[in-house]
Amino acid sequence: MIPLVKVAMPPRELLIPALEEVLYSGMIAEGEHVYRFESEFAEIFHLPVALGTSSGTGALHIALLLAGVNPGDEVVSTSMTAEPTNTVIMQCGATPVFADVDRETGNLDPISVESLISPRTRAIVVVHYAGFPANLTALRRIADQHGIALIEDAAHSLGAKYAGQGIGTVGDYAIFSLQAIKHMTTVDGGILTMRDLDQSAQARKLRWFGMAKGVPRTEVDIQRIGFKYNMSNVSAVIGLAQLKAIQSRINRHIDNGRFFDRAVSAIPGLAVTRIDPECQPSYWLYTLLSEDSDAVERCLAGIGVSASKLHRPNHYHSVFKPMRRPMPGLDTYYRRLTHIPCGWWVTDEDRERIVDALRKG
Ligand SMILES: *Cc1c(COP(=O)(O)O)cnc(C)c1O
Repeated sequence: MIPLVKVAMPPRELLIPALEEVLYSGMIAEGEHVYRFESEFAEIFHLPVALGTSSGTGALHIALLLAGVNPGDEVVSTSMTAEPTNTVIMQCGATPVFADVDRETGNLDPISVESLISPRTRAIVVVHYAGFPANLTALRRIADQHGIALIEDAAHSLGAKYAGQGIGTVGDYAIFSLQAIKHMTTVDGGILTMRDLDQSAQARKLRWFGMAKGVPRTEVDIQRIGFKYNMSNVSAVIGLAQLKAIQSRINRHIDNGRFFDRAVSAIPGLAVTRIDPECQPSYWLYTLLSEDSDAVERCLAGIGVSASKLHRPNHYHSVFKPMRRPMPGLDTYYRRLTHIPCGWWVTDEDRERIVDALRKG
């Protein structure tokens, strides 16, 4: 069976000696390996700064706090995402307000976002769903006009670009996930980036209980409570090994994605995610749209390819029930979508077979 998602590990010969060295070095917690990983990550993905965290969720929590999200505030967000996008908003004591999504992309619809801004709105959280960039030009303008923060949850979109820029550089903050099945994994881990580098010291404190590293433990002063969200040297060593091949891995996602874009648009009854001119997706998942998503799943299961919906719109969960609102765009997108495998593990032959099967119906 060709899986929908797959864990990518660096070659054994590269990873195991490096891991062995760090594991027995006596320095397994946050240290030099983490700082080297952060600077290489920032360089490769053209980010002003990259802070390693224990998860993408932790990074997003810190981003919300830096954006000034406090209890009682509202954050305009999307329900068409993995749950952590919205559970962290609740953890801040704030309320996610679900804007509708574009029925052809699954990404936030700026018109709906703007209509939901209230005096209590502190931030907009945008997800580049499945690796397809959202309309950042419109969302940036809305955030600026209302004086609120734009936070990019780029967990699906490592390596994507928007208007020629690395994804994650238009928002005031952006996060990436290095969890098992994303483009790149450190087993668990995350990256936080931000435009205002003056906030990076505060971000570093928030990831470590509220304390500044390097200040003697007897003198350090916690002024604001932080969390245990730092990255370890062990994760960073995996990350450093991953970075050596990350661009070629992402390129393979993109090559497969473009192949499907061309081939699938010619198949009657199937549609592809709309890609606006500014957007260069990194195709974490490939999304087919059709009137019978179950039939697409069955068709591909028949040739040993797993295809399915991957996420549950968050407002279906009981905890988000009070935030349910009419979202006709989301209803249409979610009903029509089937994700198919598109990553580095999908070979030329696999993708031909997938398209053949879809053509035959
Ligand atoms: C994976 C994911 C996260 C959380 O990342 P973790 O590293 O698993 O904490 C956040 N948002 C989205 C959209 C995700 O898919």
